Amino acid sequence: MVKIALAGNPNCGKTMLFNALTGSNQYVGNWAGVTVEAKEGRMKGETDVVIADLPGIYSLSPYTPEEVVARNYLVNEEPDVILNIIDGTNLERNLYLTTQLCEIGIPVIMAINMIDIVRRNGDIINPEEISEHFGCVCFEISALKGTGVKKCAKKAVELARYNKGVPPVHHSFDDRVESALHFISALLPTGTDMLHKRYYATKIFERDKLISSDFDDCESIIKDVEKYYDDDSESIIADQRYKYITSCIDECRTKSGKTPVSEKIDSIVTNKYLSLPIFALIMFGVYYLSVTTLGGALSEFITQNLFGANGLASAAEGFLNSVNCAPWLTSLVADGIIAGVGSVLSFVPQIIVLFIFLSFLEDCGYMSRIAFIMDKLFRKFGLSGKSFIPILVGTGCGVPGIMSSRTIENVNERRMTIITTTFIPCGAKLPVIALIASALFGGAWWVAPSAYFLGIAAIISSGIILKKTKLFSGDVSPFVMELPSYHMPTFKSVARATWDRSWSYVKKAGTIILIASCGVWFLSNFGFYGGKFGMVQRMDNSILAYIGGAIDIVFAPLGFGSWQAAVATLLGLIAKEEIVGVFGVLYSNIGEGFNALSGYSFLVFNLLCAPCVAAMGAIRREMNSFKWTAFAISYQCIFAYCISLALYQTVLFISTGRITVQTVCAAAVIMMFIFMLFRKPVKRIK
Ligand code: GDP
Ligand code: MG
Repeated sequence: MVKIALAGNPNCGKTMLFNALTGSNQYVGNWAGVTVEAKEGRMKGETDVVIADLPGIYSLSPYTPEEVVARNYLVNEEPDVILNIIDGTNLERNLYLTTQLCEIGIPVIMAINMIDIVRRNGDIINPEEISEHFGCVCFEISALKGTGVKKCAKKAVELARYNKGVPPVHHSFDDRVESALHFISALLPTGTDMLHKRYYATKIFERDKLISSDFDDCESIIKDVEKYYDDDSESIIADQRYKYITSCIDECRTKSGKTPVSEKIDSIVTNKYLSLPIFALIMFGVYYLSVTTLGGALSEFITQNLFGANGLASAAEGFLNSVNCAPWLTSLVADGIIAGVGSVLSFVPQIIVLFIFLSFLEDCGYMSRIAFIMDKLFRKFGLSGKSFIPILVGTGCGVPGIMSSRTIENVNERRMTIITTTFIPCGAKLPVIALIASALFGGAWWVAPSAYFLGIAAIISSGIILKKTKLFSGDVSPFVMELPSYHMPTFKSVARATWDRSWSYVKKAGTIILIASCGVWFLSNFGFYGGKFGMVQRMDNSILAYIGGAIDIVFAPLGFGSWQAAVATLLGLIAKEEIVGVFGVLYSNIGEGFNALSGYSFLVFNLLCAPCVAAMGAIRREMNSFKWTAFAISYQCIFAYCISLALYQTVLFISTGRITVQTVCAAAVIMMFIFMLFRKPVKRIK
């Protein structure tokens, strides 16, 4: 068994190559920090070769948790070869890591990726020259287009099999540093792995906190060198590495001098005045097209022909009746399963269209610009743009969104991001939005996009409010967002990402939603009536009505105090699309239970309140504390309640002119909200 580790800077294409080599399907995102854990997979066609996809790293001096994961893997798991993926459009920065990888003592092979973009820009890279300078084989590849991948992988396997323990050549620092490293190596305790000697010596020289060295001799050697250069040891090393790279890079690469296409696009898209309007327009288009026009039409077609009144349900009913099936079973199939699962499935076209757009925007590189643009906006409120990446991921599903908050080092910012990430409507909330938009607003153009912008507004205002409290005050950490070059996503990558996400939606419909629909059918058809337990004629007498009726009063001030709405909200915690499933079973038309205003208020509450159990589980894992999880979920619920209340009561007041106790409460909430937004921040008590 041999092991190949993929190492490189964030967003250089490691996961894409990993997927190509192993045939697996890990999430490829066009921004840093997507892969947060090491993932292993077997190479296609080579049963004895394991490939490990690692989180991106800039150097072997880790600052972030995922950098520690990658470094520990490289040093402790002893891969047989390191396949160093290098973003060809950014050689200088990527080679900085290469100089360090070569010091670990494990054979290194270099793959200059994104060669398609390099060539498009008219630049020329000379792999032989790079090979010469860095002392390891170097290939040009494009993980996206598949260029050179096979050849490179073959060489990696060959090295892993036959070059065990042959360390690569590494570059040398100047004599002073080299002799210091030499001394330190000699002082290393005898047990030290011979293979990693140079690596440890360098780390000790840099005074790496994660590597303990408690010999004073080392310290005096380091101090001498530092005194000579009048600089700290870590900077001396970094400086010499960069000097070395700059000294040889001109021989390795010829620049064309053209302005890359990406820069031209960015001059418009990230323009000071145009960036936000363009972003708003694009996201508006995405939601409008996927919910209202294109996706909506497809969904309607399915509903009418498959799950609607004259479709599958009546066909099944007719069939089951004709074979003299028990009435309760017929009802379970037609009114329970087909109505519940069917209404969830009828939104599949909308989900697919949404995911096609999102995958495209992400893959081509536009979404990373959003984080960059948002950083400028967020900074005005004391927030970091780094929080926006989890939110972008969360547009697909909240669980990976919450997980990607792990890349945020600052603990306050991380917690705040975890709390707010699920405000953005995920794929599972889309059916709820679409249902309300079409059934209660006649497919009005603004309803679906408004849900997205409501999410963003909720995130920004929560950010401001939380930041001003004692719990979250503090400075904003700097955020360096790298902008990847734009590229045309391949059909395959968009199709794959869309398929993955849509399929998991369908799978949920076939499992959780199916079970829940049966449960809802049972609970809404059975109950105690006339002193006996059994099937009830009217749903209002069912167990479900009883359960919902016990809590529906809570939602009355928000305009949807019916037991059905209460049940839907409650079951939405299992999975948000279950809300649609519940309505499918309980109503033949949701207009029976809502008007436009109460429907919108219901939507707002359900978009913002606690997410589904899977996402709550993710919150629990990432917060790693019961107290903080409880805080997050309570905050979300209270926030959702306040916004819904304010909205519903305000519109109600405007339209009827009547003032009730609830109007007064809403006014108080609005005033409180404004106060929290605009008050002076509380200083952190040191
Ligand atoms: P990782 O962070 O290193 O795992 O990078 P990913 O595999 O997630 O890829 C980051 C982005 O780079 C994705 O948008 C990929 O589509 C893109 N990408 C990867 N390889 C290539 C390539 O060879 N050419 C181009 N144009 N894009 C690539
Ligand atoms: Mg990755």
